[in-house]
Amino acid sequence: MKLIIGSHVSFKKEDGLLGSVKEALSYKANTFMFYTGAPQNAKRLPINMELVDEAKKMMIDNGIDINNVIVHAPYIINLANGDDFAVSFLRQEVERCIKIGINKLVLHPGSYVSLSKEEGLNNIVLGLNKILNKDMNIKILLETMAGKGTEIGCSFEDLKYIIDNVKYNEKLGVCLDTCHINDAGYDISSFDNVMMEFDNIIGIERLLCLHINDSKNIRGSKKDRHENFGFGTLGFDNLLKIVYYPKLESVPKILETPYVSKDDDSKERLYPPYKEEIEMIRNKEFDADLISKIRSKYI
Ligand code: FE
Ligand code: FE
Ligand code: ZN
Repeated sequence: MKLIIGSHVSFKKEDGLLGSVKEALSYKANTFMFYTGAPQNAKRLPINMELVDEAKKMMIDNGIDINNVIVHAPYIINLANGDDFAVSFLRQEVERCIKIGINKLVLHPGSYVSLSKEEGLNNIVLGLNKILNKDMNIKILLETMAGKGTEIGCSFEDLKYIIDNVKYNEKLGVCLDTCHINDAGYDISSFDNVMMEFDNIIGIERLLCLHINDSKNIRGSKKDRHENFGFGTLGFDNLLKIVYYPKLESVPKILETPYVSKDDDSKERLYPPYKEEIEMIRNKEFDADLISKIRSKYI
């Protein structure tokens, strides 16, 4: 089975998309995900198209299909609260993706904060209806959320409601995050059942991206804290089954597992784990020493 796997990578102003591709290749990935600027603020530099063209050539030369490359929308965008800022910022982000040639944009649906959940859901629908049109060559992938605070999207029913009510909903898909659905209460250890439920409620053809993360917390904790592949409560075998799930072969899998700290006491996360995690996933064998191996590379 062919595996489309990569990780979150950086997108820096010096080398833009070219740097992102180089980083992905350094992990032996064949796809990747990036933010087009800092996820926590609205500052955006113009896209350097020369670097984009160079990056695209490098992708072709190295077997990365741009159709599998994902952009993650800034997580400060909250369509659920109904303000115009979120709509205009997301619209700008959609335009940036189209300019680069990316056709999959992952979005956190939003948090309803002091509104009712129903109002939040309807604001998301309104916002998406302002942005989507039938001619645009991009899909917005609604991410499944852990249910932290007032997050919308922690059930398949939430996402179905949004999809059902958006006019051009052929432009909507779903990004399933394994840590998030575990924390939201889904039982990952019977993934066939989870997929059956997903297919019944949303339709498996909408599933266009997977975020592959282990979780630091137990099922239903509503926490959203990612753990390295095989080192959390989901475990290696459950995650491997998802990665190699035959019906999801063509779906890009993106690792958002945490950077590794210098030692167990240090809070500072310094070393990317993706090269080693991808290698371990390809080998299909758990390596309990993975974290210390990553650390030893940098000492
Ligand atoms: Fe996300
Ligand atoms: Fe995610
Ligand atoms: Zn998360």
